[in-house]
Amino acid sequence: MLRIGGFLPLTLSDFPGTVAAMVFVRGCTMHCPYCHNHSLCEPGPLLDTQEVLGRLSANLGRVAGVVVSGGEPTVHAGLPVFLATVGALGLRVKLDTNGSRPQALATILDHGLADHVALDVKAGWTGYDQLVGGVGMATAVSASLSALRRHAVAYELRTTVCGGWHDEAGLTELRQALRPGERWFLQPFRRTDDLPDRGADLRPPDPGLLIRVRDQARAAGIDCHIR
Ligand code: SF4
Repeated sequence: MLRIGGFLPLTLSDFPGTVAAMVFVRGCTMHCPYCHNHSLCEPGPLLDTQEVLGRLSANLGRVAGVVVSGGEPTVHAGLPVFLATVGALGLRVKLDTNGSRPQALATILDHGLADHVALDVKAGWTGYDQLVGGVGMATAVSASLSALRRHAVAYELRTTVCGGWHDEAGLTELRQALRPGERWFLQPFRRTDDLPDRGADLRPPDPGLLIRVRDQARAAGIDCHIR
């Protein structure tokens, strides 16, 4: 079973080259202080999975793909079946993941259930667990990155950069863990109305920091962009 907390019938910007619908699942393994989808990490109302699949079927011809996002989709045992069902409809699949469940991700990749994966790499490995409020997360995300590199799947890496939490040393450590040719998006933190209320120091990053990190990444052959 997939615990679906939201459905967006159309997005033009979340699946590269593909007009897609979005499915948002509830529940997450991390506690990022700047989470932009915080309400999805909390218990709340669920949509019926069959009804969502029905809406996707009715939308065939208007969308060519589905983005499964969250929350963290890989926490749900029903994810592989859901992705297989979506794929059987003839829709391409993009999975957004925080990388905390490398075995679940590897299963999806082994069975060819995703056409594109967006993996959050939230910081350099030092301090990763502290940032996301979990144990063993740096090791898990590193293993997820290795799984992506082993499989013939299109993937991108994403880092939300938040003033007060990210600094140049940490982002340099992260950049040094990436490989030439990998696509890496730096996303400046933007305040939304769905943030956790933990009194954290949340502010947009220094634009100069983003530019320096992007340029250093590009000099290292990484396909880095600010968006
Ligand atoms: S991994 Fe994503 S959904 Fe989970 S807490 Fe962090 S930002 Fe929010």
